[in-house]
Amino acid sequence: PDLFGAERANSKGFDLTHEPTLAAIEKARAPHKDAVWDVTPQVAGFVGTGEAAPMVNPARPGDVVSRVIAASPAAVTAAFDAATPWDAPAGARADILDAAAGAFEAHYGEIFAILTREAGKGLPDAVAELREAADFLRYYASEARRMPDAKARGIWTCISPWNFPLAIFTGQIAAALAAGNAVLAKPAQQSPAIAQLAVRLMHEAGVPTAALQCLPGGGNVGAALTADARVAGVAFTGSTATARKIASSMADHCAPGTPLIAETGGLNAMIVDSTALPEHAVRDIVNGAFRSAGQRCSALRCLYVQDDIADKLLTMLKGAMNTLTLGDPWDLSTDIGPVIDADARTGINAHITQAAGEGRVLHQLAVPGMGEFVAPTIIALDSIAQLEREIFGPVLHVVRFKSQDLNKVIDAINATGYGLTFGLHTRIDDRVETMVNRIDCGNIYVNRDQIGAIVGSQPFGGEGLSGTGPKAGGPQYLPRFTAPRPAIATP
Ligand code: GLU
Repeated sequence: PDLFGAERANSKGFDLTHEPTLAAIEKARAPHKDAVWDVTPQVAGFVGTGEAAPMVNPARPGDVVSRVIAASPAAVTAAFDAATPWDAPAGARADILDAAAGAFEAHYGEIFAILTREAGKGLPDAVAELREAADFLRYYASEARRMPDAKARGIWTCISPWNFPLAIFTGQIAAALAAGNAVLAKPAQQSPAIAQLAVRLMHEAGVPTAALQCLPGGGNVGAALTADARVAGVAFTGSTATARKIASSMADHCAPGTPLIAETGGLNAMIVDSTALPEHAVRDIVNGAFRSAGQRCSALRCLYVQDDIADKLLTMLKGAMNTLTLGDPWDLSTDIGPVIDADARTGINAHITQAAGEGRVLHQLAVPGMGEFVAPTIIALDSIAQLEREIFGPVLHVVRFKSQDLNKVIDAINATGYGLTFGLHTRIDDRVETMVNRIDCGNIYVNRDQIGAIVGSQPFGGEGLSGTGPKAGGPQYLPRFTAPRPAIATP
């Protein structure tokens, strides 16, 4: 049983240090290295038409990954009309979601190829993402079995991000389906091919096509899917600004109190005090700030390091950064791939340029000559309060603090209003307890990095500007997708 008593095991994943496993992955993904995926709306009884727009690999601009026919207003209307909650018994739904998890794992070659070419993920990240997607399917399946009498709410709109284009996409859908709802899924505009494959595999496993429909496209499609009285709930992961727009659209169009589950941004801090083990702290800082090119909402954005060890730690940190290889994430030697697209690169670089103009860049790596790469960069700050927005890329801000100011540091971190992840490196036991009680945030990591939450044992989600909860992959998530059962009275 897992932490919450469910009879279920997380996916074994793939051991990349095991030569035969790696060889099998290479063989399985090779046929998909130059493939182009044709993406269309997956709407029951509807065929998408119109011009297909090419999507390219962010690491290799000449590499077309997919041609996408986005959902038209007619596709959205057809999807609402066809949407039918999944009225199979909970056990049958759970069996089908389990089968889908197996199908995902069996299609690892194509999945890894798409994750790398469409979303810039290196193999370790792609492996972790496939595991997490399978874990979500099996976890919510086990939750459905635990709540066999749960009552579906109706139609759920699920809007997911490009940074976990398989795991978060699948997690939202799996929970909604496990509870017997119908789903209208809108994948991120940047990652429609992996979404289409995931939906196809769920359909093939037995999810009815009218219970799960997928509408690729941009913000206009998302807007249409959250502005309809038939929507009984919305699950969204993305920016805080978009979450506000969705909430206001739902207030105008949906029944009052229609649930919105939003998982949004963060200004995540880590505190490293003078008792920390510098080697461990540096390893975890590099991982938290730069892995996945910093494109995780959990990523470390602002490091508070105690003055007494700051020089030593920064020297070691720069040395560790210098060993990172930037390049095509298809290559196994690559540590850091591209950011998702040109807009992302431009926005992050504008922030770095401003800091450089103010003389605050402490260290920076070089970038490859082509592709949407951003140089991993360290920027000095006086306080996290200077960060006006989440910088969603490989940029680490560093603040030095004096021991006597620790309380002020915690106040400043809480005052951002975000509350997603927090990291702490210390060997003072009392301090761990004090911090855990004082920091307002969803996921706290002590003496380790602050990314990579695990389904079923580290439910993930924030508070304040970082999200509404309930945490994904935890026991409170599925109930939010259900409606109260009628209270029946007889004389
Ligand atoms: N769950 C992921 C992690 O723990 C982050 C999810 C996100 O970036 O939206 O790293």
